[in-house]
Amino acid sequence: MERIFGRPIVTQEEMRARIRELGKQITTDYTGKDFVLVGVLKGAYAFYADLARAIRIPMRVDFLMVTSDGSRAKTSGKVKMVTELTEDIKDKDVLLVEDIVDSGLTAQYLVKTLAKKKPRSIKVCTLLSKPDRRTNNVTIDYVGFKIPNKYVVGYGLDYQQKYRNLPYLAVLDIEGDQE
Ligand code: 5GP
Repeated sequence: MERIFGRPIVTQEEMRARIRELGKQITTDYTGKDFVLVGVLKGAYAFYADLARAIRIPMRVDFLMVTSDGSRAKTSGKVKMVTELTEDIKDKDVLLVEDIVDSGLTAQYLVKTLAKKKPRSIKVCTLLSKPDRRTNNVTIDYVGFKIPNKYVVGYGLDYQQKYRNLPYLAVLDIEGDQE
């Protein structure tokens, strides 16, 4: 059995305050635009719900779901879109909402893929960024928190599909015994 312990790295209060700031900034930047907020599932679901409610302009909401092969504790190098957008984003201003940008592969792939649908603009907002791990050149326009190279769970982020419902963000420590 493995035992998992989480040490908080971002508290609920810090999260709330930062998301309020991001919401204000995005409201200013997208006022008067034909705005679509696109959430990247599953990881971004909690952040998306809070961010959307901190943005005070009319917008469309949409989602896509991605998976990557292999263990979710590492970026495996292959991203797959498993559900498509339902909104037509042609000529619209799209903001992609991600949970975390690590190597940058997922964000780069999604920006490239969605750009084919000819939006007027496409930008990326991520709750978390691990700048030390970046290997793919992608512009991240809004970052909630820069974090060190540690595996984090909670607030939408998983370890083997669990811990997404943790209301704060924690560093995962795994202690394995061989039972
Ligand atoms: P990237 O494509 O930027 O390398 O990785 C992005 C994806 O890797 C995220 O959407 C997430 O699923 C996963 N990931 C990277 N770092 C972490 C982490 O610290 N915790 C969790 N739960 N997932 C992570």
